[in-house]
Amino acid sequence: MGFFSYNCLGCGYSLRSHHFTSDNSKWMSKAVVMTKRGGKWEGVYDGYGRIDGHEMGFSQRYACWHKACHQIVGEPEFTEPSARSEDQGMGSKGTWNLPEPKTAEDIEALRARTKEEDETAPAAAGVLDGLTLL
Ligand SMILES: [Zn+2]
Repeated sequence: MGFFSYNCLGCGYSLRSHHFTSDNSKWMSKAVVMTKRGGKWEGVYDGYGRIDGHEMGFSQRYACWHKACHQIVGEPEFTEPSARSEDQGMGSKGTWNLPEPKTAEDIEALRARTKEEDETAPAAAGVLDGLTLL
């Protein structure tokens, strides 16, 4: 199984594999994931569907959050499943050093950016940029 990921319900960016973060963007690999049935796991995302050893299966749909985003919005329980990420958890153009959000306004700003990128950048270009930065 290759890399895959889900988008944070707060900011809209993917749960980033810890292999694809910088010191600034490390927060993007710290995740909180929940299932409709009340399962909840926290930890570092590895890019292969595992949160500190918990394997996210394909049969369940997970609500995924960056831990930072989840805390800022008041740690909601499961609301809806997250969408699969086009960047597969490797990051997209211009997000290698994305700083951690500190306020609800920061999350809104990130969300606005992800929407813009969805409309303008082909996903493949983002993946290639991520690889180049290694
Ligand atoms: Zn987020």
